[in-house]
Amino acid sequence: MNGGETLDFEVRPNPAPVSAAERSALLANPGFGRIFTDHMVTIRYAEGKGWYDARVEARAPIPMDPATAVLHYAQEIFEGLKAYRAADGGVTLFRPDANAARFRQSAARMAMAPVPSQLFLDALSELIRVDRDWVPSDPEGSLYLRPFQYASEVFLGVKPSSEYLFLVIASPVGSYFKGGVKPVSVWVSRDYTRAAPGGTGAAKCGGNYAASLVAQAEAIEHGCDQVVFLDAVEQRYVDELGGMNVFFVFDDGTLLTPPLTGTILPGITRESVLRLAADQGLTVREELYSYEQWQADARSGRLREAFACGTAAVITPIGVVRDRSGEFTIGDGTAGKVTMDLRERLVGIQRGTAPDPHGWVHRV
Ligand code: PMP
Repeated sequence: MNGGETLDFEVRPNPAPVSAAERSALLANPGFGRIFTDHMVTIRYAEGKGWYDARVEARAPIPMDPATAVLHYAQEIFEGLKAYRAADGGVTLFRPDANAARFRQSAARMAMAPVPSQLFLDALSELIRVDRDWVPSDPEGSLYLRPFQYASEVFLGVKPSSEYLFLVIASPVGSYFKGGVKPVSVWVSRDYTRAAPGGTGAAKCGGNYAASLVAQAEAIEHGCDQVVFLDAVEQRYVDELGGMNVFFVFDDGTLLTPPLTGTILPGITRESVLRLAADQGLTVREELYSYEQWQADARSGRLREAFACGTAAVITPIGVVRDRSGEFTIGDGTAGKVTMDLRERLVGIQRGTAPDPHGWVHRV
């Protein structure tokens, strides 16, 4: 199968779906990641056979042999994207083709069988078709989609699995910022790094997140919302946050973001911000930026704003930066204008309230 192929999906409706009344109650305050829709997609892969047995079925536990490869060697990848309720009641996705492409790149890095892009996109559409009523109508809400793939072969040898399971589950989510966008505080980790050259930093594999948890816990212990990772070689240059990419805005109106050197995740929000900034005539440099320079530029006032970006919170201003030897504030610590303008433009495109000049929005 190449990147364009797909399968017929067998739909087995959940015989005991959540009632409409209960669903409305859940959607009124969904939080993040603890409520799930009635169905899931499952597709199997076996060496020599390819992808087969595509289904939409009742969401349920997946029985697993204790010797299933993923439980031992973590051969697993995932994606995250959101479905939005359009003003006319329809449902849209933001750049799902980019998630399909990144999923294939993650698969390649983890020596896994790639899911054809069309099959990935069809899996999203099939699930949304069945669980459409779970897409929140609240203008701040969305249905978070979580496609993932793991090594399902029952074998303890260390080698690429000969069998995989690809699944898509969905979880309604509410507003990331209750009561308006607030700048976050970040903790610069000096003890832990996230990804080394030649490692898996550019892949969206579960192991990267397992490795980041202790640093994120340290951030929280120090009163910060998120962790910032520096490069693993010199511990000098800013890479990214635990789950977001980072941008810097200078007094001459230019923007800077770390380049995709293989140690950071190529964020779809990052790429979208780069394009929107270019549309606005802003100069954006993809360049290394040292933590030392970040501190000096914040102190001198040359750095006006900094923000983090990713699917979950879209664009988030960074207010305070802390490490074990002290802290500094970006600008006056409040959300900056360039940051908030970019956020408004991007959210407008995603929500269908602004024109979509790049054809990013896909109707399902
Ligand atoms: N970096 C990391 C480590 C992430 O987990 C994410 C979230 N997927 C991002 C950056 C942002 O990527 P995206 O804009 O595609 O959500």
